[in-house]
Amino acid sequence: MAFPKAEFRRALTTWYRKHGRDLPWRRTRDPYAILVSEVMLQQTQVATVIPYYHEWLRQFPDFAALNRASENDILRAWQGLGYYARARNLHATARAVVNRFRGRFPRSIDQMQRLPGIGKYTGHAIANFAFDQAVPIIEANTARVLVRILNFRRPIDRRGSREKLWEHAATLVPERSAHIYNSALTDLGALICRPRRPRCGICPVKKFCQAKNPETLPVRKARLRTTRLVEKHAFVVREGKILLEQSSSRWRGLWILPPLETSESGLPLHISKFPFTHHRVTLAVYRRPAPNRIAPEQRWFESIDHIAMPSPHRRAAQSLVNSSPGTPSKAFGVGLR
Ligand code: SF4
Repeated sequence: MAFPKAEFRRALTTWYRKHGRDLPWRRTRDPYAILVSEVMLQQTQVATVIPYYHEWLRQFPDFAALNRASENDILRAWQGLGYYARARNLHATARAVVNRFRGRFPRSIDQMQRLPGIGKYTGHAIANFAFDQAVPIIEANTARVLVRILNFRRPIDRRGSREKLWEHAATLVPERSAHIYNSALTDLGALICRPRRPRCGICPVKKFCQAKNPETLPVRKARLRTTRLVEKHAFVVREGKILLEQSSSRWRGLWILPPLETSESGLPLHISKFPFTHHRVTLAVYRRPAPNRIAPEQRWFESIDHIAMPSPHRRAAQSLVNSSPGTPSKAFGVGLR
């Protein structure tokens, strides 16, 4: 029997109108605001994104404002969200929209996907949420719901299977109000059809669902194992100033505590851990004396308040300044925040 699409959509959107989430980016059709939200939501939870989204739009309300901003201001506003390439890509996209499209975001998904950092999902999301084009969106939530509804058992992180899922998804999207349907599918994944312990007992589309054992879906290829890394950095202060270095690698453009050789030994002043892609990184910070000459990529700072730093390094610097006798935080201007 053919899948009862119309009935499925009706059940889904009726549930959504009553139980869907009221998210700030759903109150706008501005492609810029929607792009910002979509880029922030890649790798980051909704609750974390909301304050960043408001603050970003306050500082950079449109493509023109973002185009005019300095890289430091942009990285500073992004600080805490991680994966800084996203912020740089937004900046480059603003430049392209202003210069190549006279400030108007293109409506064609093909053109969108030629902009920096805009892939298939983001292009479809903007086409759908900003321009109400009847296209599917496949991200973590919608993928999970669809593979369960359809009992789709191919690994969704294989390109061919993923494409197949996009094709299935496209057949279900309604011609009109597709943005409501896609928001409903997303919310069903976030609130009901959760990765673990899906709430099938109260699911509004249970009668359409073909999953025999939903928790085993989606199927994925074997995961990369997490690798442990130890990164050593220096805490150097002189006359109330802290020495930082502008990163040219992972955190390109951001200011970090100066790196040390991995062979450095002794007792670290500070140890913390943070995840990075499939790594678990241990950050170990050692006190080092002020050098006579500093490298070209290094600089002394009186305050770290207005410079862009990755969160693990900012937290380490702040905690060391607060706890080190002889380096009171007041020595750093208004203090390290
Ligand atoms: S019935 Fe269960 S597995 Fe199927 S869509 Fe609903 S919550 Fe997900």
